[in-house]
Amino acid sequence: MSQNSVFEMALEQLGDAAKRLKLDSSIQRVLSHPERELTVACPVVMDDGRIEVFTGHRVQHSSARGPCKGGIRFHQNVDIDEVRALAMWMTWKCAVVNIPYGGAKGGVQVDVTKLTPNEIRRLTRRFTVGIMPIIGPHSDIPAPDVNTNAETMGWIMDTVSMFQGSTVLDIVTGKSIDLGGSLGRREATGRGVMFNTLELLKREKRDPKKTTVAVQGFGNVGSVSADLLNKEGCRVLAVSDVSSAYYCEKGLPIADMIQYCSTSKNHLLEGFTAPGVSKIGMDELLELDVNVLIPAALEKQITPKNADRIRAEYIVEGANGPTMPEAERLLLKKGKIIVPDILANSGGVVVSYFEWVQSIQSFFWDEEEVNRNLQRVIVSSFDAVWKMHEKESTDMRNAAMMIAVGRVAQAIKQRGIFP
Ligand code: NAD
Repeated sequence: MSQNSVFEMALEQLGDAAKRLKLDSSIQRVLSHPERELTVACPVVMDDGRIEVFTGHRVQHSSARGPCKGGIRFHQNVDIDEVRALAMWMTWKCAVVNIPYGGAKGGVQVDVTKLTPNEIRRLTRRFTVGIMPIIGPHSDIPAPDVNTNAETMGWIMDTVSMFQGSTVLDIVTGKSIDLGGSLGRREATGRGVMFNTLELLKREKRDPKKTTVAVQGFGNVGSVSADLLNKEGCRVLAVSDVSSAYYCEKGLPIADMIQYCSTSKNHLLEGFTAPGVSKIGMDELLELDVNVLIPAALEKQITPKNADRIRAEYIVEGANGPTMPEAERLLLKKGKIIVPDILANSGGVVVSYFEWVQSIQSFFWDEEEVNRNLQRVIVSSFDAVWKMHEKESTDMRNAAMMIAVGRVAQAIKQRGIFP
């Protein structure tokens, strides 16, 4: 496997599940190819009058089970290979939690720290127009991902609405509440990470109050996961973002750190101080002696190089694709349990689905109802994956993939291959 291809990593995971499912090789071939890919050039007039051109992609991996669904990422490392992998993982994620969506993903190769808010807004609108031929409330519904948020979704919704001549609320999820977003959507991925972690601790007969946690990434997913696990009594010993990493033996003041990031430069942790809190190395965080490690930043953080030094017993993948397959094999050999991304971080797409349903019906639920339904979906999905992991004596990723790939394969078989 090439060291740089995340899509090859995703194909390897598909291959493992296909083998165990004894999947028809022609269905595996279909699933190995994204249905549709669009690459667009996005010229943007910068604030100083210069024109910069950014490259963006939207990949629809599978619509076998319903409209394609997946986030949009703004990051300097975005390329078609990464977007392809992320789109495929979205297909499995929607299938493992059994919501009626296929998988897609989008991304623009851009370092947002080098753009002003106005430049980001113009880029978002131009990218939206670029991918408009293939997105739609019943074909492909974007959502936030790394470096995009409710504000970005509002711009996408507005851009599509301007062309349509009427407001199209259900074109994106992850919108602000004022624009028809769902209560609980912002916290949903982190809340799902928390529910998954608690389910795992329950199966392992561990008391959350005696559980220590380290979280890599302090954005939407990482900060909410840390905050909610802290509220459940876990001791969050370490967190990091792209700027710096922090440690406190007694447990970090997570609420204060979230508050700090709300006004700090680029919303980063850099410069945070509090009694008993010390700065640690970025790589050190992954190797701490904690019970639970939550990688919630980017893919390929746990590598064959550092896997041997990972001391956490449990890894709950808040991020997509944080563990490389070779590293995973090493960790599994040592008896570690990995709750795979497609299950661990599925809370976001589950509440995105609730938001889409609410937008279509123009009937909105209260937050308690959103969270209760999210818990119901996560707990039952975790249970199904755990049972499969026990029945098949396989790891949780393979178990989750067997359920997900099995469902998508079944949909393809029942629809038949067109024409
Ligand atoms: P975000 O942009 O809100 O946060 C990303 C965080 O990771 C930031 O704190 C950033 O500083 C940090 N980071 C980046 N590189 C790092 C590094 N090398 N070391 C440590 N920290 C680093 O993004 P997000 O929405 O929280 O997404 C994080 C991950 O979760 C991604 O893999 C994303 O695909 C996945 N995910 C997000 C959602 C969602 O609803 N937002 C849903 C499912 C999965």
